[in-house]
Amino acid sequence: MSDPFLVRLPKGDDLLEAVTRAFEERSISSASFTVIGAVIDAVVGYYDFETKSYRNREFKGDFEIVSCMGNVSLKDGRIFVHAHISLAGEDFACFGGHLMPGAAIFAAELMAAPVPGDANVREMDEPTGLALWRAAR
Ligand code: ZN
Repeated sequence: MSDPFLVRLPKGDDLLEAVTRAFEERSISSASFTVIGAVIDAVVGYYDFETKSYRNREFKGDFEIVSCMGNVSLKDGRIFVHAHISLAGEDFACFGGHLMPGAAIFAAELMAAPVPGDANVREMDEPTGLALWRAAR
């Protein structure tokens, strides 16, 4: 089992990729985490329940990461990061959704809490069209 860890992610890296790499480097496949900091540009997804697909929107500019939280599990045998993010620009208005690749780190502090035990495994869930954890029984 790994201890909780705090790490500053590299400026200029893609936020989602850098978070994923932080867990891959430590071979951690089960964790919860938060990130605060700032990014340049961002792509945020909204899951359309009808079409069962993500609608992505690209935002250009400098943004505060008001909140970014997520979890780590296994999907197709690989470490998979699921993250949601709230961002705010110079008008202080928040927006957010599912974090997609496309946010360049200006500054980012990752606070991670590995979870002991077997990692949750993501599998296709037909009713939602999403790769979800197995339901609790
Ligand atoms: Zn999501």
